[in-house]
Amino acid sequence: MRTEKPTSAARASRAFALFTLQLAGSMACLAEPDPNWLDHDRNRPQPPVVAPATPSTQEQAGKPPSDAVVLFDGKDLSQWVSMDGSPTKWITRDSYMECVKGSGYIRTLQNFGDCQLHVEWATPTPGEGVGQGRGNSGVFLGLNRYEVQVLDSYENKTYADGSAGSVYGQYPPLANVTRPPGQWQTYDIIYTAPRFDADRKLVSPTRLTVIHNGVLIQNNVELTGPTDWLDRAPYQAHPEKQPISLQDHGNPVRFRNIWVRELGKPGKKEFTLPNTLLDRYTGKYDLIEITREGSQLAARIGGVKLAMFAESPTRFFAKTTDLQIEFSGGDQGKPDHLTWSVGEGANEAKRKD
Ligand code: MG
Repeated sequence: MRTEKPTSAARASRAFALFTLQLAGSMACLAEPDPNWLDHDRNRPQPPVVAPATPSTQEQAGKPPSDAVVLFDGKDLSQWVSMDGSPTKWITRDSYMECVKGSGYIRTLQNFGDCQLHVEWATPTPGEGVGQGRGNSGVFLGLNRYEVQVLDSYENKTYADGSAGSVYGQYPPLANVTRPPGQWQTYDIIYTAPRFDADRKLVSPTRLTVIHNGVLIQNNVELTGPTDWLDRAPYQAHPEKQPISLQDHGNPVRFRNIWVRELGKPGKKEFTLPNTLLDRYTGKYDLIEITREGSQLAARIGGVKLAMFAESPTRFFAKTTDLQIEFSGGDQGKPDHLTWSVGEGANEAKRKD
């Protein structure tokens, strides 16, 4: 039997396939912070200025995709609260919301893990202040941990890893696509939440991709941990789904047309409720004890303690066992009983304290 020698065309085809594989491999590599630069290094090169391809739509915000969760449609702040869950003092007018200096960050009531997030923003006009003091706000994923910087970076120099579109303190944007103050700008952010194991050890870090006014400025970068001023703190374990937040940095930055598409496997909606509400639910019930740990309830039943996630202001569920709890009855918001079930049926448990 004679072995056929590969033809030159077959060799070329194989070489091309190998090249394609290598290229795909190199593209799959995640970006890491450049160790040659200090945090907020004033000598770090500025991102090149790039004019966005499409004109900004000044009059009308675009319509969200049909499967998006609309977080702000220009009418009301019903999806947003202060960080402690109380009503926010940010204001709405003329189809946008505006940060009120000193009122604090705002966060969504609903929690999100891996997601595609669309945000439109405009910095104050005329632009006042310099550097970090000019049109500063931020879009945070993972509650208040991972910031994509919002800043008036139009002809306003600041340290590169703090300019508009930076992953604050870690990655300067690949380009400066900032429009002049007062004009509407878009961020399209792809967020991959970090994962932690049962021992609260990091399994995979946060990743972010950001498109600013239609231009890619962050390409699947891998965060070292939470973003912060002066500090690169290590990761601290947190639930996969967390609220999205917007920063009050003392400037009246405006936002409109905010929507999000959840990625990954579908699941129940999750919310972060005010601690004042959760505290009304804590106590001893027949067979079950409810406690609060941070911004979450925990249920102790049959000697096992389970973290409970809110799917509405009164309904909660566990993730490791199919335990569901609903609080009801009582007065002044303090329930006198709960209904619980594990996998099937329903049981009523009266409050004992
Ligand atoms: Mg900021």
